Amino acid sequence: MLFRTIKNTTTTLTVVAICLVCAAVLVSSVEEYEKLYLESTRGDLEGLSENLANDLVSLITTEPDTFEVTATLLRLDRYENVKYAVVYDSHWQRLNMYFGPLFTPSASEINIDLDRLKLSPLGVRVKDGELIALKLVGDARLPLGYLLIVNDAVGPLNKSKLTLLKRVLPLVLLVLFVAIVGSLLIQRQLFLPLSRLSRFAQKIQETHDYSLRINIDGKQEVTELSRDINSMMETINSETQKNINYTDQLKEQQKAMERLANFDGLTGLPNRQFFMETLRLELAKAKRDERNLVLMYFDLDGFKGVNDAFGHEVGDLLLMEVCRRTKSILRDGDLISRLGGDEFLILLHNEPNELELFEIAERLVNGLNVPFAIQTWEVQIGVSIGIARASDSNFNVSEFISNADIAMYRSKMAGRSTHTVFVPDMMEDNKRRLLIANSISNAIKHNEFSIHYQGKVSADEVIVGYEALIRWNSESMGVVSPAEFIPIAEQSGKILSITKWVIKKVCQELDQLLAIHPGEIVVSINLSAHDIKNTLLIDYIRTMFVRYNVQTSHIEFEVTESAYLENFDVANEFLKQIRDMGCSIALDDFGAGYSSLGYLTQIHLNTLKIDKQFVDNLNVSKRSTLVTKTIIEMAKQLNLQICAEGVETREQADFLIANGCHQLQGYLFAKPMSLLELLKR
Ligand code: C2E
Ligand code: CA
Ligand code: CA
Repeated sequence: MLFRTIKNTTTTLTVVAICLVCAAVLVSSVEEYEKLYLESTRGDLEGLSENLANDLVSLITTEPDTFEVTATLLRLDRYENVKYAVVYDSHWQRLNMYFGPLFTPSASEINIDLDRLKLSPLGVRVKDGELIALKLVGDARLPLGYLLIVNDAVGPLNKSKLTLLKRVLPLVLLVLFVAIVGSLLIQRQLFLPLSRLSRFAQKIQETHDYSLRINIDGKQEVTELSRDINSMMETINSETQKNINYTDQLKEQQKAMERLANFDGLTGLPNRQFFMETLRLELAKAKRDERNLVLMYFDLDGFKGVNDAFGHEVGDLLLMEVCRRTKSILRDGDLISRLGGDEFLILLHNEPNELELFEIAERLVNGLNVPFAIQTWEVQIGVSIGIARASDSNFNVSEFISNADIAMYRSKMAGRSTHTVFVPDMMEDNKRRLLIANSISNAIKHNEFSIHYQGKVSADEVIVGYEALIRWNSESMGVVSPAEFIPIAEQSGKILSITKWVIKKVCQELDQLLAIHPGEIVVSINLSAHDIKNTLLIDYIRTMFVRYNVQTSHIEFEVTESAYLENFDVANEFLKQIRDMGCSIALDDFGAGYSSLGYLTQIHLNTLKIDKQFVDNLNVSKRSTLVTKTIIEMAKQLNLQICAEGVETREQADFLIANGCHQLQGYLFAKPMSLLELLKR
């Protein structure tokens, strides 16, 4: 503890050294004093004993006068250190003895060993703490006697030493004190730069201010050290600055990476990952607080068409505009995210009531329906919205999103540009949809599909062709209608394999059909919107025709109006190639969806199939009757064949024939039948 710091160590050593020096000085001066003291008492005793011995000469010459001797000896009373004195005659017979007033004799002390005394030298000597003076009385040639004086040497010496110490010690202590304080002050002065350095270091520690510098003054070592420390601080400061810049840079990079990881590059909206994370947290919170959450899934209608027709640049700009417009329609606090492509998710903040929800959805549908001005184009799209409530999915993230997706799909099915709120019943439908989608591949493998042929008749009611309609007798689900599984196959990307299967089957069975009808009959095959985007399908068709030796004039392809219009250019190119092969083309379900007729002049068509709903309404609605008449008239002018679908009554047939319809198809003439049934007839 004491030696932990340099300062303490040197201070302690200095104090100890000073004390030692003082003690040594004290001891040696006491010793010196002792010597001087003894010397002087010895001199005194020398003189005293000499005087007494001289005075005794006359007293013990002849007849010793005891009284006189005693009186003489009593002169020793003045000398308090004299223990005792003895006067002997020349034969060492004791004549008289004197005891000092302060001396109480003990037997051993008075028992003087005369033999030894006789041999002792004359004069004064020190022995056993006593000063002993032995003097000859009279002349050496004629000794009269001897005088012995024993003086106490130790007692007085000690007393005298004590007095000396008493007088000297305060002085010594004062010197000691002054020396210690002085040395402490000097050390403090010497260590001041070190303390300053330590305070400096502490300050840096507290403030983290590396631009601080220490004063350079003082002794050489200190100035050198200070200079070195300052240059070290310089280095630290510049390194710290570099570090700060580097850290700032890292932070920037981190932010940029976060942006990349959590936000969509095109629209700047939160991306799927960020949205999912937020949704998960919000769902947990809502569940805890017993609140509901509302999610909107929306998908643009016809976005692909925009991309195909105007290019991706316009597509991207459109997405940005959609994002901007959607934000302006929604409320603050609603979280919009782009899932990818043209799909968006919106988490509405605070559960809106039924009416508010309806209004928000309407605003979105109508708002996004207004054409967008992009570059020089006016682009129109729609939006299909699915809405789900968290309570219907038990606050489970993926179920929640899936429910909104199911509702959105409903909106698409219901003819687009609309919104649908999820209800649990839809879940069952969805399960069946999934089951159907997942069963298609196996159904092809296990030969569960077959084809029924529905006859088409001419105006004089002779069979002129058949429409190939697929049938599915599923082992697990029983008979599944194409009206149900074809849209699902289209949605799940399975339609191409079905189409290929139908084409192959028709090619295989064509010869047998032709055998029943020796005339020029045509078999129609239905194509879906997805098929006509796939140019590889043309190669497949060509291969099948070659393989089964099919004469192309016997084959017609039916394409729905909506499929055609969704991908106008692609469809046109596809169908042109089909026609170049020698097949004919029919526009299916005409009038069911779109009602623009302008494009009819621009496409490669042979036949227009009037949708069943017009036929149903003949003689029911005047307007429908009028429209049907107009369609037939217009088709004739365009040199197109006209086929009416779903003819069920005689009246319908008569009306259509009377108005110049070329072909009729419907239960009135023939129901779809298997090849086997047809062969039996
Ligand atoms: P579509 O192409 O419009 O086929 C005509 C549908 O009307 C057929 O239904 C047919 O059975 C039915 N139909 C014909 N005459 C009458 C009638 O007088 N009254 C009534 N109520 N219905 C009549 P189906 O076979 O159920 O097919 C439904 C839809 O499934 C078809 O409509 C077509 O879009 C699609 N489809 C059928 N087979 C195929 C196929 O092989 N490939 C593709 N891509 N689609 C197919
Ligand atoms: Ca058809
Ligand atoms: Ca049809």
